[in-house]
Amino acid sequence: MRRAFPLIFAILAGCASDPPPEPAWVSEADPGLVALGGTTRVDIEVDWFAMVPPDDVALEGLAVVAKRECPGKVVTIRRDTEIPATRWKSCRGDAIEVALDECRGRQEAADGVAYVHVLYCPVNPWGEAYASNGLCRRLEKPFPHWQIFVFKGTLKSRAILGLGADKIDRSCLVHEFGHALGLVANPEHRFEDGGGHCTDTGCVMTKPKLAAVLANAAMAIATGEIPWDYCVKCCADLERARAMYGRR
Ligand SMILES: [Zn+2]
Ligand SMILES: [Zn+2]
Repeated sequence: MRRAFPLIFAILAGCASDPPPEPAWVSEADPGLVALGGTTRVDIEVDWFAMVPPDDVALEGLAVVAKRECPGKVVTIRRDTEIPATRWKSCRGDAIEVALDECRGRQEAADGVAYVHVLYCPVNPWGEAYASNGLCRRLEKPFPHWQIFVFKGTLKSRAILGLGADKIDRSCLVHEFGHALGLVANPEHRFEDGGGHCTDTGCVMTKPKLAAVLANAAMAIATGEIPWDYCVKCCADLERARAMYGRR
């Protein structure tokens, strides 16, 4: 009987120290950007075609969320290369890859650095999804990193009354960076179409379904603003991922 006490204690201690494993969606957050440790810097390079430069308010908004959601890392947002406007004319379809090779800053991974490349284009060069403001994709070459496109000519056409293109630029850039972070993977507040968008119409990670368009159009007309930050649930998802990576 006496020998049972250490066994019971061990079971109880085990229960207390080992939380149940997290569901798979938590791992969709990018550890290079989100997790404490591993990387020490986040290097965000911004390039643009000359007719569509980034707005200051957009880069400032990105800096706010990147510094908050990539804690413990030095976050750098660099305006790097302006590509001549004439270059765009010969830049259709896969030809954009050639232009990207000319302006891409980093060709090799750097130790401890998570690299994100942002490119401002007039419109979607692949001719798909003309209506979209931006795109975020994961590239494996020349080394694994995120690439974000902002289709500034498209989003400029959405400016209405008090809502300027700079505010739409900010929301678009922060939205696409949210996909790089790993949002939105939590089924509790994710649209079930697999697009990684938040059901909260006040969150920048929502998608332009009718309810969000109506809610945010009214806000835009009244205040000249639209949501540009992640909601409480999205931030909590990233914090949960950070805690999980910290236990590994
Ligand atoms: Zn999206
Ligand atoms: Zn959200």
